[in-house]
Formats: sequence, C-alpha cells, structure tokens
Amino acid sequence: MNAALNPVASPHVMNTYGRLPIALTHGQGCRVWDVNGKSYLDALAGIAVNTLGHAHPKLVPALQDQVAKMIHCCNYYHIPDQERLAQMLVERSGLTNVFFCSTGLEANEAALKLARKFGHDKGIERPEIVVYEKAFHGRSIATLSATGNPKIQAGFGPLVEGFIRVPVNDLAALKKATAGNPNVVAVFFEAIQGEGGVNPMTVDYMQGLRALCDANDWLMMIDEVQCGMGRTGKWFAHQWAGILPDVMPLAKGLGSGVPVGAVVAGPKAANIFAPGNHGTTFGGNPLAMRAGVETIRIMEEDDLLANAERVGTRLKTRFATALMEHPGVRDVRGHGLMLGIELAKPCGALTQRAADAGLLISVTADSVIRIVPPLIMTEAEADQVADILLPLITTFLAE
Ligand SMILES: *Cc1c(COP(=O)(O)O)cnc(C)c1O
Repeated sequence: MNAALNPVASPHVMNTYGRLPIALTHGQGCRVWDVNGKSYLDALAGIAVNTLGHAHPKLVPALQDQVAKMIHCCNYYHIPDQERLAQMLVERSGLTNVFFCSTGLEANEAALKLARKFGHDKGIERPEIVVYEKAFHGRSIATLSATGNPKIQAGFGPLVEGFIRVPVNDLAALKKATAGNPNVVAVFFEAIQGEGGVNPMTVDYMQGLRALCDANDWLMMIDEVQCGMGRTGKWFAHQWAGILPDVMPLAKGLGSGVPVGAVVAGPKAANIFAPGNHGTTFGGNPLAMRAGVETIRIMEEDDLLANAERVGTRLKTRFATALMEHPGVRDVRGHGLMLGIELAKPCGALTQRAADAGLLISVTADSVIRIVPPLIMTEAEADQVADILLPLITTFLAE
C-alpha cells in the first residue's frame, strides 16, 4: 500500500488524541479533502478556529504578502499591526488594552496572572478566583487547574491552588461559596462553555454576576476563546447580555487558523502588568497580527456576524424541529454557529459515522454533538449539514 494513502500511521507523533483514521490535505470554503480524495463538509472548523473556512480568496493573498515581508521579529520592537489589531479589538469590545499571545491557554494564563496581581496590588496575598463546573480553560498546569473536568486533571497533580468552583447559572451558590471570603479577586467563566458541552450562561446570570463583581471589586473575566469572534452573531457572546467584562481572553477564531491569542482588558485591568511582568516570544508577531487584522476586516466586509446568526438560527431550528420531541434527545442549544445537541447516551461513535457520510463534527462532554462551522457557511451548506446529520442521529438513537 502506498504510505501516503495510509492515514493512520503516525508512530513518531505522541499519542495524545483519539484521532479518526482520516488525513486531510486541503480545503476550499466549508469543504475539505483527505489524502484519498474523499471530501467532507466541515462543521467543526478545526474546533471553532477556521472563521473564514479554508483557502479564503481574500485571506490567502494577504497572508502570502505578509509571509514574503516578515513573519516574526519579537517584541523588542514596535509591531505596527499589533496596534492595528488591538485597536480593532478595543473598538469592538468596548475595552481598552490588549496583550497578544498565540493560544487560548496562554490568553487564559495571562488572565489568571492579571487576577492574581490585581489581588496582590491591593494587599491580598493569597488571591482566589471563582471558576465553574464543566469549564474548560486549557491544558497548562494553571489552566487545567481552573478547568472543571477531573479527566483533564487526572495525573497532573498537585494542581494550582486558589480556585473556588461553583455550578453555572446559580448566583445563590456563588454567593454562598464566596461569603465572607476577602481573598476573592475574580470570577472566570466562558459565556458559552465549549468543551463542557455547549452550555450557555444565561443573560440574567451574567447581569447578576456583573453587579456582584462591581459590588465586591472582583474582576469579571470572560473566556471567549471559543464563543467569541463573531461565532454567536455578536463579536463576543457576553454582548448578548449587554455587559462589559474586565478581562477577556480570545484565541481560536481570531486568526482564522493562524495561531493568535489575545487578552483584552478594560480600565480595571489594563494597567496591572508593567514591563517585566509578562511576555511571550511568538505572541503578536507580524504574521499573526496580519491574520487577525485581515480576519476582522473580511468578517465585516462579508457581513459574517449576521451570517453566523442567520445560518445558525436556521440550523438550530432544523435540529430542534426534528429532534426536540425525540425521547433520546435531551436538548438542542447554543447560539449562532455554536450549537450543541445533547443526547441521552454517549455518542462519540457519531463522529466516525458522520465522517463516513462526508461531514466533520465533534462530540464533546461524551454526549453532546457540537456544531461550530466556519462563519462563511451558507444556508444551503447548513441544510446539507442537517440532511446528513439528522438521519445519523435518529438511526443511532434507535440502536
Ligand atoms: C480551546 C479553548 C481553550 C484553550 O485554547 P488552546 O488554544 O487549545 O490553548 C481555552 N478556553 C476555551 C473556552 C477553549 O475553548
């Protein structure tokens, strides 16, 4: 057999993923192809990363241009596109200052450092941060400690201390868990939990939490790594609640596939770091910044926020109409192009079956089918997603 056609053999790559036996080579729009020439509709977007799909005709020439000029130069110098992208993020978030890094966990690590230093600066020596059940914040030691999934933490203790864990959407529980504790400095949550199973925080909860943060001088830190950057139809998912966070980590969709992370801060957190407090070699490099600038520019030019909301609503309606009465379906939820279908039984097997049928999806939290396609997805493509997926689900539930 031709080795290039055997997509499962990677004996020298560390075994950290349960990979499907598929090797992808290229893509165009919402479609990708594997080494055998089979094509798939992409409803995963590299885990909510490929905002503009694959080989976008406006992004490709911009990145080619940038690669030919400069990829990296390090933060010992001013990088003009950092200021440009920072300004774009500030304008769209209502916040004031940005630190650039390369990944989601790094953005979250920066947020956690901001929260701790915020505490130390006001004399709190053992700052504590409120985090959530089912949260996912990354795989570094600090961010996996903030993560609310024992499977992700197993084997990596001792965990970082200073976290107080509470259930989502339960203000009374949070008040009880923090009552009389002078060391609390921040609350840290995803506006819609991604890996935890597409669990949205309610508008009421986020508004109540904002008031509580103000009353107690806590930083409100919203991890928008997965739900941000237009995915729900607004730039950032918390904007549906009309609130402003103090700290907002971003990554995934920000560079449309080029690794870009950012932590965006409002006035309460913008001046916590001084030179020497934080840094990164790759973060904010010219290629990454160009990818971010062009992603936002193209998103606006092509009206992709409105598209995410319109196409997402259509898809959610189709799922809900077909599945909500089904006894094997617990819930259809999410917003825009961040949708989850929770089944009453584990459904990891569906990822392979969908791929066999020419559709890329993922299953998260064991029993939640997650749909996070490129924001360029058309209504016709969304209909194809539903046409392929719905019969697979009903067959699976009948087994
Ligand atoms: C993916 C994700 C992260 C981690 O991002 P990496 O780039 O994998 O480090 C953190 N928070 C949320 C909400 C995520 O979805």
